[in-house]
Amino acid sequence: MKNSVVDAIGNTPLIRLKRASEETGCEILGKAEFMNPGQSVKDRAGLFIIRDAEKRGLLRPGGVIVEGTAGNTGIGLTVVAKALGYRTVIVIPETQSQEKKDALRVLGAELIEVPAVPYKNPNNYVKVSGRLAEQIAKSDPNGAIWANQFDNVANREGHVKTTAAEIWEQTGGKVDGFVSAVGTGGTLAGVAEGLRHKNRDVKVALADPMGAALFSYYTDGELKSEGTSITEGIGQGRITANLDGFAPDFSYQIPDDEALPIVFDLVQEEGLCLGGSTGINIAGAIRLARELGPGHRIVTVLCDCGTRYQSKLFNPSFLREKGLPVPGWMERSPEIDV
Ligand code: PMP
Repeated sequence: MKNSVVDAIGNTPLIRLKRASEETGCEILGKAEFMNPGQSVKDRAGLFIIRDAEKRGLLRPGGVIVEGTAGNTGIGLTVVAKALGYRTVIVIPETQSQEKKDALRVLGAELIEVPAVPYKNPNNYVKVSGRLAEQIAKSDPNGAIWANQFDNVANREGHVKTTAAEIWEQTGGKVDGFVSAVGTGGTLAGVAEGLRHKNRDVKVALADPMGAALFSYYTDGELKSEGTSITEGIGQGRITANLDGFAPDFSYQIPDDEALPIVFDLVQEEGLCLGGSTGINIAGAIRLARELGPGHRIVTVLCDCGTRYQSKLFNPSFLREKGLPVPGWMERSPEIDV
């Protein structure tokens, strides 16, 4: 029995990915983060950020948590906030999926949509959320905090203490590699820290989408980006505090036309309906498996549910508009007469 939804965060299963494992001769396992109460890996960050603020005495009952997010962190924070008696004010770039915005509104977040502009612009969603937190802190009698997921290392700590610890225990310490994309870097740097602490030889790989700058940073020391990706929640252009001191053993740059067929096959062949960042992660895990050779065990993250992107990733006209391949089954109508 769980005392509240907060206690249902984490302890997600590791699921063997059949096709990826068979094609590489490795065992590729996905940490099923879409099974968290807020249906993404970001519930863990939400919980640890709120618990850390409570420990520091920064949150009072009824207090406001303000955050800039592509959606999932806002959902994680709001689930935890509702259970613990806080409010959330969430700033989201308007380009993010309608499904995530709807979920935030249904959960009771106060949602502010802003134009999607680069980080260096003062009107970037992260910066707007920081200013808003300062304003609300002054005017609201219960006070406010800025969750600041990118540079708040309670996020990374959550993955050291829970995600990495769970992976170690679930595999009985038999894990050769870990692969993840980066939004804030909390997942990749946190799990890397936790696993390397147990075994220095665990190989850690970054799976970067096109349009992000970390692949070039970790391969030739320069933050440079090229191309674009339809994936949401990942693709970083700077070294966040959560990435500070972290370095991967391998870095891969994954184009959408490598990642999306994996997402589509998983629905049809393995009953797993997952988002675009999971496709990037699994493509990265396959590349690491080829690098290490058969017989290794590699863990990656199944970040969130595909239903969160029904209007984009699973919408033939959206895919066509972006010049991406549309799988045949997506457009076929049922062949059953009734
Ligand atoms: N996938 C999705 C769908 C996400 O929303 C996020 C977080 N923004 C990530 C992956 C990356 O997680 P992290 O912030 O820990 O790097």
